[in-house]
Amino acid sequence: MKSMHAIDIDTVEMTLDIMKYAINRISNTTPDLASPKQEKELLALVGDTITDDGIGGEKAFQIFRDVLAKAAVPVDHPRHLAFVPAAPTRAAVLFDLVTSAASIHGAYWMTGAGGIFCENRAMEWLVSLTGLPKDAFGVFTSGGTAANLSAIVTAREDWRTKNEENNAFKGLLITSHGAHSSVKSMAKVIDADLILVEDDEEDKLTAKGLQATIKNLSEIDRKRLFAIVATGGTTNAGIIDDLQGIAKVCNEEKVWFHVDAAYGGGALAAPSVRHLFKGIEKADSITIDPHKWMFSPYDCGAVLYRDMKLAANAHSQKGAYLDIFKDQGAQGFNPADYQIQLTRRLRGMPLWFSLAMHGTKTYTKAIERGLELAQNAAKQITELSHVELVREPGLSCVLYRRLGWQPKDYVEWTYQNHQSGFALVTPTKWTTNGKSETIARFCFINPDTTEDDISAILKTMS
Ligand SMILES: *Cc1c(COP(=O)(O)O)cnc(C)c1O
Repeated sequence: MKSMHAIDIDTVEMTLDIMKYAINRISNTTPDLASPKQEKELLALVGDTITDDGIGGEKAFQIFRDVLAKAAVPVDHPRHLAFVPAAPTRAAVLFDLVTSAASIHGAYWMTGAGGIFCENRAMEWLVSLTGLPKDAFGVFTSGGTAANLSAIVTAREDWRTKNEENNAFKGLLITSHGAHSSVKSMAKVIDADLILVEDDEEDKLTAKGLQATIKNLSEIDRKRLFAIVATGGTTNAGIIDDLQGIAKVCNEEKVWFHVDAAYGGGALAAPSVRHLFKGIEKADSITIDPHKWMFSPYDCGAVLYRDMKLAANAHSQKGAYLDIFKDQGAQGFNPADYQIQLTRRLRGMPLWFSLAMHGTKTYTKAIERGLELAQNAAKQITELSHVELVREPGLSCVLYRRLGWQPKDYVEWTYQNHQSGFALVTPTKWTTNGKSETIARFCFINPDTTEDDISAILKTMS
């Protein structure tokens, strides 16, 4: 039997097929906006793919290219404006292939030095955008969820380390209604309770709302409170909490201040909105997702810490088999020590390469373009009679309603545009004065989206 690692004629052909596909896909700026099929339909189309003897690289790849890839939505389509889309640069996608090909273990400097070096340069840029002090640093994670988890575990460990009595308590977090679902999920993972502060007129978490919530806590709950999670650009509406005011409250109350800027973090590089993030430099930890608004391929998140020692206290794994990594001579930056994963892909490498190639100014321009598209959409919506803005754009999110539509109309409209391969724009909900309404939402990331794309989509609602 032939070895799986041998290079033979089949392997060469398969390699060429894959490289050709990759080059074509990367060069295609308007891939078909495919829609999913049911699993049983796909099974009927492709048959058994895992067999005793293998079906061969050529056939397996052909199945992927001709059938399966066409049953998945490309996130970088310029009229994909749903959820938080993505638009990885060609450079970053290509270097993602290199990241795999280079086969580097990203947990410890001892084995990963050259790759970790790349990540660290990209991380320095992220840290510089936040204004955190000089000793602050961070690591790349699988995404915002893992970054949030790593940060709140660090916060909780710090809280328990400072006062042993806290070991007896279940932790308590405070966040806002606009916080991302992952904050709620990760609170569950660490078995902490979570208080969602009621929305105020500004639809954001403010110092006043936070202070009132803390004041209302029972004595025991006040003891259990270990962190505040603010949002630097809510996923639904792009709203940035009052970071400056919250920072002050956290400082007075001596609780950890985490800023979840998974989506909005890219906008730290945009001078036109940077002032909205004032106060983020006071955070104890920050989440940013380069795979959202920093044009990295999936998956790439980042967690930044004011004090890396606290992260190491929480996350550094101990094991007889790991001692060697920490010996003298192997010393260097060990990403495994600062987040929940041990073995890890060097997810920051594609971002580093793309930044190195294009320079940070190109990033600023591409992010400003997303903000500009949101302003343009708002203007078009204001000028049309069948649609209406729900609120001014928050970063690159635009919420608007189609006058006279019921929730089911939005759903039908979404499916029609999706199934015809024209656009993917999904409805969301928005609450005003306690009343929840189904509305439409744009989220702009891709700088190749045009003003004409926006007007064409708005026309499908008329
Ligand atoms: C997307 C998002 C997350 C979750 O990030 P993943 O990369 O999907 O795990 C967390 N917080 C906010 C604000 C987000 O927008």
